[in-house]
Amino acid sequence: MEIAQHKKRDRTGEVYGQYTIIGPTENPREWIARCSCGRERVVKNDNIWKLTSCKSCAAKKRNKKPKNDKFEEMKNWLKPKRPKFNNDAFYKIEDRDRFYQPIVGKLINEYRNTASFEIVNWHEVDYKELKRWNHRISVKKGKVTKIE
Ligand SMILES: [Zn+2]
Repeated sequence: MEIAQHKKRDRTGEVYGQYTIIGPTENPREWIARCSCGRERVVKNDNIWKLTSCKSCAAKKRNKKPKNDKFEEMKNWLKPKRPKFNNDAFYKIEDRDRFYQPIVGKLINEYRNTASFEIVNWHEVDYKELKRWNHRISVKKGKVTKIE
């Protein structure tokens, strides 16, 4: 009786995601929830609305996606495109997230969306950050302009 008084309401039978609440625990703030696959877990009252499915079901769902998706993505990312950038030219790189001032680099390698540069000129304020990268950075192509 004591326990029942603490409960806001009996949630037995309520469904949250793949889970169904199958009953109370000894603890008045917790419930036993059963996933559609049969796995059970204890859930706190406050977290009950967050229930989706058990880890095993979630993993199964993830694995259903074609496995090579990520790999293809990676391949595209790394695949050198028809070179647009030039090895002899200098490029101005403006990456405000990392560098205060525009820096100047020479192309090392070009990828689909990014390119890597050897940094040959920079402002003092960015020296530390560049040193951290050993003066070689890769950057999104959109942040790069050719110096004519
Ligand atoms: Zn499950």
